[in-house]
Amino acid sequence: MTYRAYAEIDLGAIASNVVKIKASTSADVLAVVKADAYGHGLVPVAQTALASGASWLGVALLEEAVALRKAGINAKTIAWLTPPGDDFVSAIKHDIDVSVSSIALLKEILAAGTSTGRTPRIHIEVDTGMRRGGLLEEWNLFLEELAKNIDKLNVIGLWTHFARADEPDEPATSDQIQEFNKYLEELKEIGVNPQIIHLSNSAATLTTPSAHRSMVRLGIAMYGLSPDVKTLGDASKYSLKPAMTLKAKLSLVKSAPKGSAVGYGGTAILSEDTKLGIVVLGYSDGIPRNTSSDAGVSFNGKKAPIVGRVSMDQFVVNLGLDSRAISGDFVTVFGGAPEENCYSIDEWANAASTINYEIVTRIASRVPRIYVN
Ligand SMILES: *Cc1c(COP(=O)(O)O)cnc(C)c1O
Repeated sequence: MTYRAYAEIDLGAIASNVVKIKASTSADVLAVVKADAYGHGLVPVAQTALASGASWLGVALLEEAVALRKAGINAKTIAWLTPPGDDFVSAIKHDIDVSVSSIALLKEILAAGTSTGRTPRIHIEVDTGMRRGGLLEEWNLFLEELAKNIDKLNVIGLWTHFARADEPDEPATSDQIQEFNKYLEELKEIGVNPQIIHLSNSAATLTTPSAHRSMVRLGIAMYGLSPDVKTLGDASKYSLKPAMTLKAKLSLVKSAPKGSAVGYGGTAILSEDTKLGIVVLGYSDGIPRNTSSDAGVSFNGKKAPIVGRVSMDQFVVNLGLDSRAISGDFVTVFGGAPEENCYSIDEWANAASTINYEIVTRIASRVPRIYVN
């Protein structure tokens, strides 16, 4: 291995997670592969998901969808975050479905349809309570605009997004479903009956079968992580397997005396003589700068917590006086097999006051991804 650090991506875990979810629902599975497949690698993850039972792909940005097409992936694909001015002509040419959440966007898409001589495929997003994306006050006017142009559009889907599906028994979710059903009725009243109805993210997929409808949008659970460890428990509760293991070399191992102040600002003082390991990963690689000593690395089944602040390219861990690690050894930052006693992605998230989503998606592109299984 000539890398100083790498993220090992277990495609077998992703396959197993998709198979598991697919077996638990009669809905189609859309694999969410935005943000470079949550940092796991767009194309390998998309291919694995499609081979394991997913029949759709979903991304945020149009350029992510175009990247899938350029890689030769022709599965049905939605890009749902397309601001005005996006290249809808290329979306249409690449047979990419786009989401519409305003009249202005509808007009741009119609214009692109006219200029290409093809019928755009759209999914209408409605705001059922999250107050982020989706049609809200424009809805009635939008319906009029839609009715006027209906022969120039292929309305494939109606969809919304839940704000609190990761909180079991939270009434906001059922309120959103009710709200959604009203939108669907009103759409049907103007004679539009989309074939694909989709509301559920991973949390709703795991907890709310009544929200599955015709398709679920599977994100974090496909990567073997829980949408919310505190409210839903960790991924093992759902037999999901984390797919990412992050490894890095120790550039240096050295002994340091009790009382040493370690790192920028001298924020950590060694309480005893110990061996420090310098790990070749830093915040520019996506290691959160504010990670506390509740996370670290693992070597030979032993945990070595972070000491002091994470730097741009490196951080320091406390290996312990009796550690046999030497310069050049690899350590596991997170992931690894259960018997290796490593920190989990969830432990890292907790130590950095964030969520597992942010830990994996922020691993930088300068960290190579190595695919296994
Ligand atoms: C990211 C995203 C998802 C996936 O969410 P998870 O919580 O990762 O399952 C689903 N739908 C939309 C619109 C998204 O942006």
